[in-house]
Amino acid sequence: MRDDLKEIILTEEQIQKRIVELGCELNNLYEDKLEDLIVVCILKGALMFTADLVRQIKRQVVFDFMDVSSYGGDTESSGSVRINKDLEEDIKGKHVLIVEDIVDTGLTLKKVIEILQTREPASIKVCTLLDKPNRRTEKHIIPDFNGFEIPDKFVVGYGLDFAEKYRNLPFIGVLKPEMYE
Ligand code: 5GP
Repeated sequence: MRDDLKEIILTEEQIQKRIVELGCELNNLYEDKLEDLIVVCILKGALMFTADLVRQIKRQVVFDFMDVSSYGGDTESSGSVRINKDLEEDIKGKHVLIVEDIVDTGLTLKKVIEILQTREPASIKVCTLLDKPNRRTEKHIIPDFNGFEIPDKFVVGYGLDFAEKYRNLPFIGVLKPEMYE
């Protein structure tokens, strides 16, 4: 165990195994759909997850990226959401799969869904790696696909950062409190 981590809550093996299962579920959902499937990776946290997940999808997909920020260098949500980078693809009449790292209060996802709905896609589904349901303020925001439910702890690794660091860890862990105090 590294000095800066209190615990590892999901190992690399657990994450990769679950992604294979999620890939099967997504293949079942999208295999008969004729319209394009746009996979929307929410930067930067969902980068690793998206890269591994799309390799499990058997049909053609188009990638696009959105950069949305709700957190600064802190571990608590600011409560406001800013779109830093929008999609490049026209999603009208196409299936959209939003890929998120973690759904916490649900504010970010609510905002992203609202924006994308106005562009008249054929469907919008959400696949998140992690869900912290106990923290949800937007009660109606429920991901269609969820890798793992986790307790209310600030986690890092596998794309998730603290002040832009720790994203490259292949597993997910909890920082020692002294790392951000
Ligand atoms: P929400 O809008 O649902 O409160 O927050 C979603 C965003 O907050 C996530 O995409 C992620 O960037 C950040 N976030 C929420 N919980 C955590 C956490 O435990 N660790 C990290 N690194 N980021 C988190």
